[in-house]
Amino acid sequence: MEPLDFNEEFYKMIDLMVSPDNYDRPKMMQQLFKVARMFRLTKVVSEFYRNPAMEARGEGEVLSDFDEGPADIKVLYRRYQLKNGVVLKASAFMAEGTEPLNEDEEKKLDLCIRSMLNLLSRNRMQAVIEMLGYQDRDGYPNFPAFFRYLEKMQSTCGFKGYTAILYNLRQFSLINRDLGHDMGDRILRVHFETIKAIIGDKGFVVRVGGDNFAAIFPNELLDKIIKAMEGVPVVYDKENDRRVMISACAGVFIIPPDFKYINQGSIVDMIYPSCQTAKLEKEGTIVYASKKSLAEKENMSRVRRHFEEALEKNYFHAFYQPKVDVKSGKIIGAEALCRWIYEGSVVPPMEFIPILEQNTDICRLDFYMLDRVCKDIRSWLDKGLNVVRVSVNLSRKHLLDVDLLEHLMRVIDKNKVPYKYIEIELTETTTEVELKKLRRLVEGLREVGISTAVDDFGVGYSSLNLIRELPWNVLKIDRSLLPGVGNDNKKMSNLMFGHIASMAKDMGLECITEGVETADQVEILKNNDCPYAQGFFYDRPLPVEEFEERLKKGGYDPVSS
Ligand code: C2E
Ligand code: MG
Ligand code: MG
Repeated sequence: MEPLDFNEEFYKMIDLMVSPDNYDRPKMMQQLFKVARMFRLTKVVSEFYRNPAMEARGEGEVLSDFDEGPADIKVLYRRYQLKNGVVLKASAFMAEGTEPLNEDEEKKLDLCIRSMLNLLSRNRMQAVIEMLGYQDRDGYPNFPAFFRYLEKMQSTCGFKGYTAILYNLRQFSLINRDLGHDMGDRILRVHFETIKAIIGDKGFVVRVGGDNFAAIFPNELLDKIIKAMEGVPVVYDKENDRRVMISACAGVFIIPPDFKYINQGSIVDMIYPSCQTAKLEKEGTIVYASKKSLAEKENMSRVRRHFEEALEKNYFHAFYQPKVDVKSGKIIGAEALCRWIYEGSVVPPMEFIPILEQNTDICRLDFYMLDRVCKDIRSWLDKGLNVVRVSVNLSRKHLLDVDLLEHLMRVIDKNKVPYKYIEIELTETTTEVELKKLRRLVEGLREVGISTAVDDFGVGYSSLNLIRELPWNVLKIDRSLLPGVGNDNKKMSNLMFGHIASMAKDMGLECITEGVETADQVEILKNNDCPYAQGFFYDRPLPVEEFEERLKKGGYDPVSS
């Protein structure tokens, strides 16, 4: 066998240690061993501590990189403390009676050890970063780890045949309360390990905080996992045979073959709402993310994506639904209702307004609508039409705007529209804070002569106090209170409707009923002193040109009793 060339082997070793992109641990260790023997060493030990305090407590990582004989004499010792507190140490040993290192060897060994520590710190720091970023305080893999796993799946096997779940352990706070936090933690851990064992290396499970977990795994494991989540006794103390029942509520998404993965959020967006729904149920429940929720989600991102462009290019239109005096058939007003003309079809507001209401986009739309309405009124006035008061819907999100009144007035003034032609529709509110703001607005509007209407009275949290305390002009009774809608008790609803209409009258409010569809219902309004109606019986919300025709005509034939 050729004798080994000391210099050649030594530099090969340094080279292996310092190549940043080419770290091959087994090869490097092999080389280290070779060189250590050439240095006549018997043992090399490296140590890594996150900080000096942990070093003092001996809490770190001690690696005997090389250990082939008695470690009698310490021939080299190095300790470094990095700026970030990390402590690195290394020692090299020889057996007694061995030829000591010469000067050149000493220098080389020093270089070798420092390179080794450098490498060690690099690798350990990476592991620490990993731990801090992808694990929670209790050492469970966390949401970022889940996201990273999803990204890896996307770029390797894809999601076909996989199921994702997000679940919450029911009433875990009770377990914590009754058995104590330590026991609670233990139970969580047992549960997690159970799920992890079922999934094995075929998927991934993480804790997303508290008693919430997310997982992804092949479809065929779903039954087993659901069994493990639903009402299964968890043994938390084997010795004393102590068990506790846990159950979960989960959002489950069986990923369809045509699923479009845009980013990691694509999957979470599917399971999150289902899990929220599941949480609302009383018993442990599994809610499947369905095609419907998938469609809803797609609609949501479509709305968000195209909103800006639609505003800019005037794809939102004001449609006008006449308000009619039931006795004379005359048009006494109109409500402006928003329509989005998207790729040639008309999108009703229920498909986009709730989405825009999730942030303040709705406010921009409402102002756009107000401006549109003012422009139309201005043009009707200029054409000499008999203009009626037009109501505009304002989302409650506007209540956050302290200068709302000024902002509204500015738009109306800009279009030179007299205030008497504008009415603002607002829905009721439940919170005290909102009520305060609502009062300020309604009072302000009344002061400048802009009408206000309580919209949808009778749905949600109707409060007579709210009606009485604020100076509204109009009460709009929701169609659900109209007798003859749905399977109601006719006599009862007739009675209720009558009372509400007369209460409105007594309070000096104009009263209008929405959703009037039949001549019978018009009759009911007449008989109950509700003077105005709005509904399909007269007209659906109309495009502006058609509404102009109605204005010219002035009204409808009165319903004869
Ligand atoms: P809303 O303000 O209560 O408007 C009345 C709704 O009842 C309108 O629905 C109208 O088309 C519908 N309707 C009218 N007559 C009848 C009828 O005889 N039968 C039935 N079944 N329905 C009738 P639309 O246009 O789909 O609007 C729904 C809701 O969307 C509105 O309820 C309003 O809350 C909101 N909305 C519409 N446009 C805007 C807007 O520009 N801004 C804001 N913030 N909300 C708007
Ligand atoms: Mg309305
Ligand atoms: Mg309404």
